[in-house]
Amino acid sequence: MTVAPSRSLRSSAELIRAEEPVLAHNYHPLPVVVARAEGAWVEDVEGRRYLDMLAGYSALNFGHRHPALIEAAHRQLDQLTLTSRAFHNDRLAGFAESLAALTGLDMVLPMNTGAEAVESAVKVARKWAYDVKGVPADRATIVVAADNFHGRTTTIVSFSTDESARAGFGPFTPGFRVVPYNDLAALETAIDETTAAVLIEPIQGEAGVVIPDDGYLRGVREVTRRTGCLFIADEIQSGLGRTGRTLAVEHEDVVPDVVLLGKALGGGIVPVSAVVARREVLQVLRPGEHGSTFGGNPLAAAVGSAVVELLETGEFQRRAEEAGVVLRDGLTALVGKGVRSFRARGLWAGVDIDPAIGTGREISESLMREGILVKDTHGSTIRLAPPLTITNEDLTMALGTLEQILRKGA
Ligand SMILES: *Cc1c(COP(=O)(O)O)cnc(C)c1O
Repeated sequence: MTVAPSRSLRSSAELIRAEEPVLAHNYHPLPVVVARAEGAWVEDVEGRRYLDMLAGYSALNFGHRHPALIEAAHRQLDQLTLTSRAFHNDRLAGFAESLAALTGLDMVLPMNTGAEAVESAVKVARKWAYDVKGVPADRATIVVAADNFHGRTTTIVSFSTDESARAGFGPFTPGFRVVPYNDLAALETAIDETTAAVLIEPIQGEAGVVIPDDGYLRGVREVTRRTGCLFIADEIQSGLGRTGRTLAVEHEDVVPDVVLLGKALGGGIVPVSAVVARREVLQVLRPGEHGSTFGGNPLAAAVGSAVVELLETGEFQRRAEEAGVVLRDGLTALVGKGVRSFRARGLWAGVDIDPAIGTGREISESLMREGILVKDTHGSTIRLAPPLTITNEDLTMALGTLEQILRKGA
């Protein structure tokens, strides 16, 4: 039986208008209404095609509807979708084994969203501080970096330095110390005997793809080891192939105590996140102390296992590195021609546009009109993070379109 693709009954403009009175205004999306997608390309309600250069903030590292991932999901949908952790399911052990092996760590705590993985790591680090390190009750601190992005829960925005993420949402959770990113001396000064962990992004995505100096991640590893606190790397956006390695920390040959994964772990199909850690850390959790109804569900585990299988070949990491050269070369050629500066690693770039040409939002809208989807971050910065499956031809075409827009003005 073939199923005809469903067609939207309303136009893009009607659908955008229909959202306004019924949908919370917590986003400001570009005015494109996506109805179908495959690989690096999406199609709107009217059948216009766009190259997706955002890839769901790295949730779509393998592109839209990667055949192996869709097949794994379909197979599992016909078998078993949810048990809750009240029972075992036949997919979870294999998922945890393969994910631990992929990251070089021992144990997995499966959750759903990225923010939940971060929350879980905060709880685990505090419990480890009390049970293993011997920090007095309720005194544990966690050191974080300025301009971080770790999610949107009450506790996580408590240690955000972005006023728009915090204002109006207090009172906040105590126990966090904020230091400048990429500053080892400040980090070391903030650590004391109450410190459970240092929590950082190996590359700050939301801040504009901010890459720390060479040696920073090795330094964080050294300082945390020497002072006896945990190194938690939030690889929710930087991990799973994006930077040309399985994890971004691999660029400095560093193994953190705890790695947080999400976004691409769900293959662009379902939310799947995980805290992956050394046994000494995750073993502090006992039955009843933490959990999630959907965490580790068989559908998530089946898709997550298929994601790990794709990464085990190394093909996507290599592809990110190769296409990353095309991206870097293309952006280098635009510096001084509308691009002020950029930062790139693998297939991931933050591009600072000359503000005289337009805001990041205006550039994003101009690119959209030319069939390229990107997202601005702060001010005049746009973020490029296409699916790792993008062809060199498509990537070159997108860079050419950006060049034209920078020449003409947004
Ligand atoms: C997206 C993101 C999160 C939060 O993930 P959600 O699934 O949106 O909750 C946390 N940390 C980093 C680095 C992220 O990029």
